[in-house]
Amino acid sequence: MSIRLGCIADDFTGATDLANNLVRAGMRVVQLIDVPPAGTAGDVATDADAVVIALKSRTVPAAEAVDASLRALAWLRSAGAEQIYFKYCSTFDSTPAGNIGPVTEALMDALGTDFTIATPAFPDNGRTVFKGHLFVGDVLLAESGMRNHPLTPMTDSNLVSVLGAQTTRPVGLIDHTVVADGAEAIRSRIAELRANGVATAIVDAVSNDDLVRMGAAVQGLPLVTAGSGLAIGLPANWGFRPSPAAAQLPPSAGHRAIVSGSVSEATNGQVLEFLKSGRPAFSVDPLRIAAGEDVAGQALAFAEAHLPDGPVLVYSTETSDTVRTVQGRLGAAEAGELVERTLARVAQGLVERGVRRLVVAGGETSGAVVQALGLTGLRIGPQIDPGVPWCAAALPAGDTLHITLKSGNFGGPGFFTDAFALLDAEAAA
Ligand code: ADP
Repeated sequence: MSIRLGCIADDFTGATDLANNLVRAGMRVVQLIDVPPAGTAGDVATDADAVVIALKSRTVPAAEAVDASLRALAWLRSAGAEQIYFKYCSTFDSTPAGNIGPVTEALMDALGTDFTIATPAFPDNGRTVFKGHLFVGDVLLAESGMRNHPLTPMTDSNLVSVLGAQTTRPVGLIDHTVVADGAEAIRSRIAELRANGVATAIVDAVSNDDLVRMGAAVQGLPLVTAGSGLAIGLPANWGFRPSPAAAQLPPSAGHRAIVSGSVSEATNGQVLEFLKSGRPAFSVDPLRIAAGEDVAGQALAFAEAHLPDGPVLVYSTETSDTVRTVQGRLGAAEAGELVERTLARVAQGLVERGVRRLVVAGGETSGAVVQALGLTGLRIGPQIDPGVPWCAAALPAGDTLHITLKSGNFGGPGFFTDAFALLDAEAAA
């Protein structure tokens, strides 16, 4: 067996977002953390319709992003991918130096294709493209908070000119009047642009229906580039339909725990809700770590006593005032790193103590935990809250770990308990 769709995502949480959309449209999806060694494609391809390789290529120098993307492409082709999906942020995060343009052109060259599309539209998340202009909610990109982004400030909302500044070949537009006319009209426009030497076309989309029409129109293109929105329109090209079977994970068992290193508002609310319910929880204090105390050891001793009546929560979550005080004393980066390292050790210790169902809160925290646990791939399962699925991963020793990686601002107040309730419901079904 070989995979249908091979995806290259320029960051980790974006990869999960894309994978989640593909699963909801009926594909079985595996997300890989970085490019696996050559020769390993056969193992994954038997069990997946799509593979998403998560890179960290959004803000690295363009040459590095190109190199990593081409390695990912080679692996995906060895897994038999029929179409390649280059996934970037729905706010088109990039600069005149890249990396969306250079990576797109390198992938086109490697695939021997002269044309592709580009659209960050994801109407469900408030990202729409009209006349080539990207809107974030009700405002143009350049009037949104992205204007002040520290690494990729977006000061032009016209994606034709934004992408034009990053590419050597002409950029065109497939505007909404064409998209609204359906897949046939989009295909004719593609043929026309191609005949005029346009290499990449920005495509308008203001609704999911637009994405579905676009998905049908790009059937057979070797390469598509987009945010995660286009994923809702592609699986149907291979006959996939939404089905719970696509999200099915192996049965879960073992102790339950939550590790939270996020200090975002949503996570603070989730921690508070968990504490209010009177369940066992251990607070990790960065100042005590800095003072040389074995905080990870203390957290694990506490957890060990309570795991049989779990879930157990280990958290560093604090109000923003307290975090600022700690950052003032230790430095923001140092405090963050101390906490990440400690929580990663805690996660390792929890797994050694039999935890097999683990919720992790925080984007950076998730990265540290995944690395400490030596996870290389995640099978994407059912969605707990929008954009946050349960996943199954093989531990290096062979056991299966059910894990969900929640970036800070995702999830409702009851996320921690909702997550485990969903696994229980799956087991009962
Ligand atoms: P989010 O997804 O909410 O941004 P991250 O894990 O990406 O969460 O980032 C949170 C950062 O804050 C991490 O580097 C983490 O180690 C750090 N952090 C967590 N708790 C504290 C705390 N109590 N004091 C200072 N820094 C903290």
